Amino acid sequence: MLLRAFFLVYNIKRNGSGIMILPDYKEAKQRTSKTVLREEYNIDKDLKSLGKGKTYYVKTYGCQMNEHDSENIKAMLEQIGFTEVDDYEKADLVLLNTCSIRENAHNKAFGFLGRLKHLKEEKKDLIIGLCGCMAQEEGVVDEILHKYKFVNFVFGTHNLHRLPYLIKDNMTTSKQVIEVYSKEGNIIEGMPVKRENNYKAFVNIIYGCDKFCTYCIVPFTRGKQRSRDKDDILKEVEELVKEGYQEVTLLGQNVNAYGKDFDYKYTMEDLLEDVAKTNIPRVRFMTSHPWDFTDKMIEVIAKYDNIMPSVHLPVQAGSDRILKLMGRRYTKESYLELFNKIKNTIPNVSISTDIIVGFPGETEEDFEETLDLAEKCKYDNAFTFIYSPRENTPAAKFEDNVTLEEKEDRLHRLNEVVNKYFLENNKKLVGKTVKVLVEGKNTNGKDGYFGYTDTNKLININTTKDYTGKIIDVKVTDAKTWSLDGEIDE
Ligand code: SF4
Repeated sequence: MLLRAFFLVYNIKRNGSGIMILPDYKEAKQRTSKTVLREEYNIDKDLKSLGKGKTYYVKTYGCQMNEHDSENIKAMLEQIGFTEVDDYEKADLVLLNTCSIRENAHNKAFGFLGRLKHLKEEKKDLIIGLCGCMAQEEGVVDEILHKYKFVNFVFGTHNLHRLPYLIKDNMTTSKQVIEVYSKEGNIIEGMPVKRENNYKAFVNIIYGCDKFCTYCIVPFTRGKQRSRDKDDILKEVEELVKEGYQEVTLLGQNVNAYGKDFDYKYTMEDLLEDVAKTNIPRVRFMTSHPWDFTDKMIEVIAKYDNIMPSVHLPVQAGSDRILKLMGRRYTKESYLELFNKIKNTIPNVSISTDIIVGFPGETEEDFEETLDLAEKCKYDNAFTFIYSPRENTPAAKFEDNVTLEEKEDRLHRLNEVVNKYFLENNKKLVGKTVKVLVEGKNTNGKDGYFGYTDTNKLININTTKDYTGKIIDVKVTDAKTWSLDGEIDE
C-alpha cells in the first residue's frame, strides 16, 4: 500500500536494478496539504568516511537562497570526509548548484557541464552532480538523462539533506542517480552549515512561494510557502551573536509572507522585532513582495536601530495592465503609496528593486509607465532584466510580439534612468559620515578595504588599518554610480 502511494506521488523510472525519481510539474504545482512536516537532519555513521582523502568543488549560480544552500552542501560534504578545493580541475567531486530564474543562468550551467565533460574524459573517476532549481525542471532532467549521461547524480531542492546518501548510491552502484521530489515541501532542521563569511550570515526563515507570478518558475522549483519555527530561527541568530557575527540576512523568496502558514498569529513584524532584540548589530531581510508588506512592518523597521534602513522592493513593471498580466496583485498607484510610506517612515532608507522589460505584449505606452515609475522612485539600486520565458509558466504561453531589438532598446533606456539616480543618491552622501561593516581588503586592484553601509551601499575605504569584521564610522569622500569612496572618520 505504502509502495503504491510512493509510486503515485513521484514520477518513478527504473534504472537497471535501481529507481530514479524524476521531477513532475503537476505535483510541484499542487497546494493541497496544510501540514508541514518538520524533520531533523541526521546521517548514518557509516557515511562519515565516504569522501575520505577526496576533494570537492561547488559552483553556485543564482540568488542568496542558493548561496546559503551551498553553505549547507559544503558542510555536508565535509561531514562525510571531502575537503574543499578552489579549482574544479583539481576536485574529485564537482557539484553545480543551479538557478532557473533566467535563460542565461541555464546556459551558463550547461556550458560548465560541457567543460566538465572534457575533464571527465581525462579523469574517469570524477564525480559530477547537479542540484538546485534546474534539477526541478522536467526538461533539464530529461536532457541530462539523454545528453549528459556523464553526470553521476542529480537531486532537487527538496532532496538537499539526502546528498550523502545519493553520493553513496552512486559510488556503490556506479549508476546515474536521480532523486527529485516534486512535492509541496517539508522543513529540515539541523543541517550543518559552512558559512562563507565570518561576519555576515544568511538565516532562512521561509521556504517556497505561493504567489505564482505568471513569469516565475520558483513556486514550481521550491514548493509551497512554509515558515520555519520562530524558536529555531531565534536560536540560530542567538548562536550567531555568541560567535561574534555582526549581521544576519533573513532569507526567503517572499519574507513578508512569514508566518502566514501558521495556525497562530506570529508574522514577519513579530519575527523582525524578536530578531532585533537578540542584539545582533545588523538585521537585513530579503526578498519582499509589496503585496505582503504591512504598515506594522514599516514601523518595526523604523523603531529598531539594528534593523537596517534598506528595503528591496521588487516592482517588476510600472504599467497596471502588465502588472495584472504578471499576477503581481498591486497597481502602480498602490506600489507608490507603499513606497512613499516606507520613505516617509524609515529615516534615510534606501530602496532597491527588480524590473523586467519586454514582458509579452508590453507596448511603448506600458514601458513609459515603467520609466515614469523609475523617475518617481529614484531607486538606490535596481536589477533590470529583459523578460526571459520559463518553460511551464503561464507567461511562457502568452503571445510575445515585442522584438528583441525593442526589448534591448527599452532595457538601455531604463538603465539610463536608474543609473542616473544611483549616482545622484550616492552624491548626496559625499561629506557625510556613514556606518560601515568592513568586510576585508579591496580585491579590485585598489589599496584599502571595502565594506557596506547600513543602506547596503558598497564603499571602498582608503586606509591601511585593518578593521575587518567591525562596524566603523567612515566619511564619504567621493561617489560613483555603484559605489562610494571614503576614509576613516577619526
Ligand atoms: S513572489 Fe517572487 S518567488 Fe514568488 S512567484 Fe512571484 S516572483 Fe516568483
